[in-house]
Amino acid sequence: MKKITELLWGSYFTENLAGDLEEKNFTRPVSHAFFSRVIPTPVKAPKLLGWSRSLANELGIAFPTAGSDDDSISVLGGNLVLPGMTPYAARYGGHQFGNWAGQLGDGRAITLGDAPTHLGREEFQLKGSGPTPYSRRADGRAVLRSSVREFLCSEAMHHLGIPTTRALSLVGTGDLVTRDLFYDGNPKDEPGAIVCRVSPSFLRFGSFEILASEGETAELKTLADFLIREHFPEIESAEPDAYGKLLDEIARRTAVTLAHWMRVGFVHGVMNTDNLSVLGLTIDYGPYGWLEGYDPGWTPNTTDRERKRYRYGSQPSVAQWNLARLCESFISLIPDESRLTQTMKIYEETFLTSYGEMIAAKLGLPEISDGDEKLVGDVFKLLAAEETDFTLFFRELSSLALDGRELSLIQADFLTGLRKAFFNPENASPQLLNEWSEWCGLYAEAVKNKGMRDRERHVSMKKSNPKIVLRNYLAQNAITALESGDDSVLRRLSLALETPYDDQEENLDFAEKRPEWARNKPGCSALSCSS
Ligand code: AMP
Ligand code: MG
Repeated sequence: MKKITELLWGSYFTENLAGDLEEKNFTRPVSHAFFSRVIPTPVKAPKLLGWSRSLANELGIAFPTAGSDDDSISVLGGNLVLPGMTPYAARYGGHQFGNWAGQLGDGRAITLGDAPTHLGREEFQLKGSGPTPYSRRADGRAVLRSSVREFLCSEAMHHLGIPTTRALSLVGTGDLVTRDLFYDGNPKDEPGAIVCRVSPSFLRFGSFEILASEGETAELKTLADFLIREHFPEIESAEPDAYGKLLDEIARRTAVTLAHWMRVGFVHGVMNTDNLSVLGLTIDYGPYGWLEGYDPGWTPNTTDRERKRYRYGSQPSVAQWNLARLCESFISLIPDESRLTQTMKIYEETFLTSYGEMIAAKLGLPEISDGDEKLVGDVFKLLAAEETDFTLFFRELSSLALDGRELSLIQADFLTGLRKAFFNPENASPQLLNEWSEWCGLYAEAVKNKGMRDRERHVSMKKSNPKIVLRNYLAQNAITALESGDDSVLRRLSLALETPYDDQEENLDFAEKRPEWARNKPGCSALSCSS
């Protein structure tokens, strides 16, 4: 295990790509460059509030103890830049809520550099480390609540088996940050924090879009070649169809990640093209949320309350729309539009296949076959009919005993589990319960016909249906405790989220459905972009 200060720091990104010639740090449009060099703005009193022991172990990095390894903590707070690091803010653009927004860029993130780790070469990026040339009118900072949310969710997603950027540390800055949480003209001072994110690359769809939109064709080719060389070594860059193959692979990865989001009930909240990774990773945890009651129309993002562009049920098609914008950016490299259509088809096919496999796995079936349409269609129709906790429903179903039992007994057990998942069991009409009973009959039959036995089905279903997800109110409880100086909730919750598929009898409080007090509480059900 190495201290952060002992890693072999480098910067493959800045060494291989052209930087902005202007070195002063002020807000500006940047052209013909992939990044701007910028040093994090020091903070008053960096204090380590959170540490992902599991990521640190995977990377081979030692826990930085205050008093004996203060330099590493200074690095994580942005107060110390080590030899070999070339901190930079990346230039990118993006479509926000469907409209081209022009230049965005890392307005509050600064990549310190990269280092070889047990996981390979990884970039280390501070989020909330001060203004950059891309900060526009904002301050480059992040508040504690949003940083806790990013820290917890990055790691939770990883442990659920979902491609994501990771989070190594959460550092309190000792500085205050002013935010207008409700956008109602009542700004408040809040504690500031910085998350150290870790990823092989932070390049986004928008990294390419900005180059295409500015007509920087040579730079676009440079970036595509760089991405292939550094991150898609399986693609031979000299081959005529290299860019097409690159897009195909991005399409595949994005589709698989989206299918996972749907599987666990994750709602990203701001699927702008600048927030989609070209490695297919989940990136930029802002006003995200987790489905509680199953509702395809739900979004946690208050900024999107009217149109609900980024609601749960729309996510796969939004990613497809975003991918089309990425494909359009490649037109100068791939003039044959039918080649781009092929990429779009790959997205659709990969999503449908992955999603189908995941739904089958959630139901404990080896596959969804012809004749299962009613079974699959009805489960979602009935889930939406009366507020039913998505996570609890599938977890309960995972342990329903079927083998050799009479249908009436199975149905009675099923309804008991279902009642636990209802938010208001008394609201469920007899007709709805009847329809559920019928569904249960269909289900029992399908399982039997496909030759699945209870033992193997219980084990496999529990691997697809998590017991513990980062319910919005759980994150908020951790934040509230931390804001009053108590990190015990954060620590316990982080640990529980490392084994989300286990039964975890000691953590049943984290597996409960949302309590009523949290239904409309800010931070628990509604989040603003300033999150
Ligand atoms: P997001 O919606 O968080 O993906 O952010 C969209 C854009 O706004 C990105 O370019 C961010 O870097 C920038 N941004 C968000 N918050 C801040 C902030 N507090 N200071 C500077 N830039 C920000
Ligand atoms: Mg972003």
